Amino acid sequence: MAYWTEEEHLFSGTKYVCSNCGCETDRPYSSCPECGADMSGRQKYDPKFVDECEILDILDGGW
Ligand SMILES: [Zn+2]
Repeated sequence: MAYWTEEEHLFSGTKYVCSNCGCETDRPYSSCPECGADMSGRQKYDPKFVDECEILDILDGGW
């Protein structure tokens, strides 16, 4: 069973990543537009912006 992983990005907004083929979409379709997997699994949340904020901190420190 496939599911969307909701990735929240600091600059590019929220993306949904297919657990089956890894494609990214901008909304959680009921089936994957790339591989056709049935997206009846539980959606996961992956706040990528946390990592991206840490990168910003590093950049701030360097400048
Ligand atoms: Zn897919």
